[in-house]
Amino acid sequence: MAEPMIRVENLHKHFGGFHAVDGASLSIEKGTITGLIGPNGAGKTTLFNVVAGVLPPTSGRVYMEGEDITGLPPHTLFHKGLLRTFQIAHEFSSLTVRENLMVVPPHQSGETLWNAWFRRGRVAAEERAIAKKADEVLEFLTIDHLADEKAGNLSGGQKKLLELGRTMMVDARVVFLDEVGAGVNRTLLNTIGDAIVRLNRERGYTFCMIEHDMDFIKRLCDPVIVMAEGKVLAEGSAEEIMSNEAVIEAYLGR
Ligand code: ADP
Repeated sequence: MAEPMIRVENLHKHFGGFHAVDGASLSIEKGTITGLIGPNGAGKTTLFNVVAGVLPPTSGRVYMEGEDITGLPPHTLFHKGLLRTFQIAHEFSSLTVRENLMVVPPHQSGETLWNAWFRRGRVAAEERAIAKKADEVLEFLTIDHLADEKAGNLSGGQKKLLELGRTMMVDARVVFLDEVGAGVNRTLLNTIGDAIVRLNRERGYTFCMIEHDMDFIKRLCDPVIVMAEGKVLAEGSAEEIMSNEAVIEAYLGR
């Protein structure tokens, strides 16, 4: 069988004596939209942060298509196509939506003084290409009418779409989404869901998403992995998970 996109092996992340992730093992298969659910405090966000290189693990390994990527920093993972969405940083809220997309691609010639001064023609051509890409992304997400709006003026749901859009500016392969549905109205939630499905089907993105909205999970995710107390408790289709005794117990509390 092909190597999974991501394989997490016996991962531990301790904060002092507290075991936030306590021996979690799971695989995210290529081409899936894998849901990660579990009660508050289960360790989902911590696991995400370790996989995405934001936090070093206490022990355990993370593999991407068989390659050991444990502890690699986010920018190295970014170049491998492993991305995690982040809330639009405060300092970017005064930039327009299009500008927020344009700052994503790495290695722009304009980044160095040398290039900026001596290769202005090339920089301008690159910038035009990036602007064109940004406009394509906005159209894909059906928010092209917001291109010149300041990011700080967007609604919560529109910001989530922009976060997703940022992953489309580069050749992402696996994207980790942290509660993209939280606090988003139904209409925009559908737009976000459609964009995720299209990115998955048409562009081959693999997704792993933390989500609380079970309807959203049911619509998008297969399989669903359930975490509780820092470990993987169950895995299966949304229907299987929702009728699993141990899962129900974990949510109700023992
Ligand atoms: P989930 O995303 O499933 O709700 P988290 O990964 O956010 O769970 O948190 C798991 C546990 O780890 C929680 O009890 C939380 O308080 C604890 N935790 C998370 N980050 C830290 C930290 N930086 N320092 C100490 N404890 C933390």
